Amino acid sequence: MLRNLTDILSEEGKVESLSVPYEAAFFQKDGVNCKVLSDEPIAFVFTNTAKGEARIEGKGSIRLQCRCDRCLKRVDIDVPVLIDENVREENADRQTGDEQPFWHDAKLDTELLITNEILVNFPAKILCKEDCKGLCPNCGKDLNEGDCGCDTFVPDPRWAALSNISLKQ
Ligand SMILES: [Zn+2]
Ligand SMILES: [Zn+2]
Repeated sequence: MLRNLTDILSEEGKVESLSVPYEAAFFQKDGVNCKVLSDEPIAFVFTNTAKGEARIEGKGSIRLQCRCDRCLKRVDIDVPVLIDENVREENADRQTGDEQPFWHDAKLDTELLITNEILVNFPAKILCKEDCKGLCPNCGKDLNEGDCGCDTFVPDPRWAALSNISLKQ
């Protein structure tokens, strides 16, 4: 959603609250694809801090439906969203070297702000439980439900190198 902040920038002391829903259906990062479940809007507050300047705050969380990195079971996670940015009218139409891609033409791209925040706070690992055993690389059985009986013995490469040496002697 694009919110024009001209009124906030021009009226000293003006404060405005706005609930903004996250509109994306999916969230992607590093090949991980999650479905957006949350329809809880993010609570934004726009505050005029000086002439032509405003502070942007946003608070809430976004619920995503992801998959366990090891066993692919469905895992729902809540990613916190905590936005705190300052924007200036004079920076609004700066075309190059833009450090605030969410701010252009005195319009605020709240969708981009929320997406950036999810990217920053997205967990490095998604696990259904801390000690998830994952899937058998051979038969694909969920090893949390029990052993599959496959021979998954992988020789330690350091010992393999040693046995090569002894064969040569
Ligand atoms: Zn798992
Ligand atoms: Zn197996």
